[in-house]
Amino acid sequence: SGKFFVGGNWKCNGTKDSIAKLVSDLNSASLEADVDVVVSPPFVYIDQVKSSLTDLIEISGQNSWVGKGGAFTGEISVEQLKDIGCKWVILGHSERRHVIGEKDEFIGKKAAYALSEGLGVIACIGEKLEEREAGKTFDVCFEQLKAFADAVPSWEKVVVAYEPVWAIGTGKVASPQQAQEVHVAVRDWLKKNVSEEVASKTRIIYGGSVNGGNCAELAKEEDIDGFLVGGASLKGLSLRPL
Ligand code: 13P
Repeated sequence: SGKFFVGGNWKCNGTKDSIAKLVSDLNSASLEADVDVVVSPPFVYIDQVKSSLTDLIEISGQNSWVGKGGAFTGEISVEQLKDIGCKWVILGHSERRHVIGEKDEFIGKKAAYALSEGLGVIACIGEKLEEREAGKTFDVCFEQLKAFADAVPSWEKVVVAYEPVWAIGTGKVASPQQAQEVHVAVRDWLKKNVSEEVASKTRIIYGGSVNGGNCAELAKEEDIDGFLVGGASLKGLSLRPL
């Protein structure tokens, strides 16, 4: 469903120097026309990346404020992300949910606002290890998905990222079968609760310990439409399409 999508989430990493090096690696990588590549630098380096990175790669914020900017100390608004050249924003990432404490409804509102202003949204969902072990993977993912679905007016610019929390930054990548099983369930949920068209068109990407060594096997699965890469994206070349 749609173009393969590879996102690099740099999280809270990097310096001006390391990011200049990463950009230069990305600029010299051979990118394939049939893959959307997006990188998500820390806010403070977005301008540097925008002014030096090839236009073939789009830029995403890692978060955004829930509404119009104003007196919200420490926040970054959707308008500012657009002003600085971002086309996307990552919302509902597990680190924002579980480390910072963002809740479903708040995340849904952020998604609705970002879309209303024309940004694309990388909408993240995923279960924790204890939830998987308790057999609650689908329940958790569907609840998070529902919060997005209840809030967003349109799915045209939404990419769903399934990122099981136990696979993020742990080196324990989901097996292709484990990921595919959830991607199918997500697509089925969209079909039943949104529409057949949205289910078939929405890209569902996988994140969690993806690297150059495991991406090809994962990409073979029918319902894996791309990746959201953390650690390995800081090494530049792993973002090279598959
Ligand atoms: P890692 O690739 O480092 O596991 O991180 C995945 C992630 O959280 C991408 O958003």
